[in-house]
Amino acid sequence: MRIPMIVGNWKMNKTAATVAKFMDGIRDNLPDSRMIETAICAPALFLERMVAHTADMPLEIGAENCYFEDSGAFTGETSPMALSQAGVDFVILGHSERRKIFRETDEMVNLKVQAVFRNHMRPIICCDETMGQRENNDTVHWVVAQVIEALKGVSEEDARTAIIAYEPSWAIGVGTPATPDQIEEGCYLIRQTVADVYDDTIADEVRVLYGGSVKPANINEIMQKVDVDGVLVGNASLEAQSFLELISNDP
Ligand code: PGA
Repeated sequence: MRIPMIVGNWKMNKTAATVAKFMDGIRDNLPDSRMIETAICAPALFLERMVAHTADMPLEIGAENCYFEDSGAFTGETSPMALSQAGVDFVILGHSERRKIFRETDEMVNLKVQAVFRNHMRPIICCDETMGQRENNDTVHWVVAQVIEALKGVSEEDARTAIIAYEPSWAIGVGTPATPDQIEEGCYLIRQTVADVYDDTIADEVRVLYGGSVKPANINEIMQKVDVDGVLVGNASLEAQSFLELISNDP
C-alpha cells in the first residue's frame, strides 16, 4: 500500500515575508493524518527556518536542487550534506527547468541522485517530456531513458524509497494538466521501467507522482489513476489556502 503524497514546489517564488505568511496560514490547519504525506520544496535560503518551524507539524521539507559533491570549491552550489544536516527530507532533482535552463544532463541528475541517497535523504526525480517528443511518438523512449539513467548505480534498498515524477513540460505552468489517461500512461511507464531495472516488488513500492498544472479543482481526478501516487505542484502550492485545499481533498 503506497501512501499518497502531495508535494509543493515553490520554485523561485518566495521571500522571507511570504514564507512566513504561508507558515502562519497552514499552522493548526494541516490534516492530522498519516494517510497522506505532505511536503514543501523550497529555495535553500528558507529551508533551515522551515524545518524548525514544522518540527511538530505533519509536513516535510525538501530542497529544489543540490550539488553532487558534499563539499569543496564549488562556488554558489548547495551541499547535499549540509541539506541533510539541516533536517531536509527530500530533494527535487532533474526538474525540466533545471534540465532546460541550467543544462543539467542525465549524468548530472544521476550523480545528484546518488549524493542525495548517500546523505540519507530521498530524491524526487523528475522525468520530462516535451510536446515535440510526444508528437513524434518519442515519449516512451525518452521517459524510460531518464528513469534508467537517473537510477544507475542505485542499490535496491535505496531505489525502493525513491520518488519519481512524470512531468511533461508542456503541461507545466499552463493551467491545463495532461489528461488523466496521459498521466496514467506516463506514470505506468515509469513504474514498468523500475520493474525492468529492479523487480516488481520494488516497482510496487516506488511512489510515482504527476506534475503539471495540478490544482484543487483537478487533483481528485488525477489521484484516482492507479499508478499515480501523488502530485508535484508548482503554482497551486504557493498560497496556504490553495495548498490546504490540495491536501484536504480525499485521494
Ligand atoms: P505547475 O508546476 O504546478 O505550476 O504547473 C509543476 C512543476 O513544475 O513541478
